[in-house]
Amino acid sequence: MLCLTGFPLGGGSAGCNALYQLSKRGVKAVLLERSKLTAGTTWHTAGLIWRLRPNDVEIQLLRSTRDLLTKLESETGLDPGWINNGGLYLANNKERLNEYSRLATVGHSFGIDSTIVSPEEAKKLFPLLDENVIHGGLYCPGDGVVDPAMLCTALTRSASKSGGQVIENCPVQNILTGKNGFGSKKVTGVTTSYGVIKTNCVANCSGSGKGKADFPSDFADKSPNEAAGYSTIAEHILKFEEIKSLPRGVKIRRLDEEMD
Ligand SMILES: Cc1cc2nc3c(=O)[nH]c(=O)nc-3n(C[C@H](O)[C@H](O)[C@H](O)COP(=O)(O)OP(=O)(O)OC[C@H]3O[C@@H](n4cnc5c(N)ncnc54)[C@H](O)[C@@H]3O)c2cc1C
Repeated sequence: MLCLTGFPLGGGSAGCNALYQLSKRGVKAVLLERSKLTAGTTWHTAGLIWRLRPNDVEIQLLRSTRDLLTKLESETGLDPGWINNGGLYLANNKERLNEYSRLATVGHSFGIDSTIVSPEEAKKLFPLLDENVIHGGLYCPGDGVVDPAMLCTALTRSASKSGGQVIENCPVQNILTGKNGFGSKKVTGVTTSYGVIKTNCVANCSGSGKGKADFPSDFADKSPNEAAGYSTIAEHILKFEEIKSLPRGVKIRRLDEEMD
């Protein structure tokens, strides 16, 4: 039986980040993954880092993620697969462009550089665009894309140098609870297929959708996304052959024609 203080559950981008952050701060942490690292949604992700989001918390989380990505290699010697190719949000109408202006203002207050661009300027950034069908865009030069598997490897290897540990093929079956001195509920351990592990702290990073945790517990009967009020929808993923003629460089996003 082990006695631990910090305990990410789930080896996706959230769990690997939690392990990295805890280990860096000297917390003895162990990540339990029921399958292999990145086996959940993280395996599918395109890894696009768009920092300008409609709420302050997301903006700050994405800003610190992006800052970590830019320094992780020099800090750990491991390439997280970060490419700073910039992001261009396209607007089909003036209402969307107004929204982008507001996003840019909020972003500036958090130190995120961005500019509103005309259809012609957008075309210069991404030459395949038809400037006649867009109203303009918001260009965020510091955004980019990360390889999720490389990132999780860099985070967990770095964590292991600070004492963090990863245990794969170790499903958590239950989170055990007891009472503290004031009669409030507290975590006392987790049950795994290998037995009970004592801990006073669990970070539920078990994802959503197919990665959803499958254990009963009054602390974690819902995945983090469900607990936050998001519901899971079916995922459909299309894979294409590489189109060699596509220009490399800035990534584009068209919010008017996607579900977010
Ligand atoms: C097609 C697609 C494209 C996307 N593109 C982007 C993008 O460009 N940019 C972006 O920011 N986001 C994107 N996302 C979203 C992003 O991928 C997810 O938000 C993120 O990967 C979720 O990570 P996670 O660690 O929370 O969950 P997951 O990656 O699902 O990890 C959860 C882990 O917990 C493990 N687990 C579950 N139950 C247990 C248990 N009982 N015991 C132990 N382990 C358990 C699972 O096996 C899994 O490995 C995309 C998602 C999809 C599907």
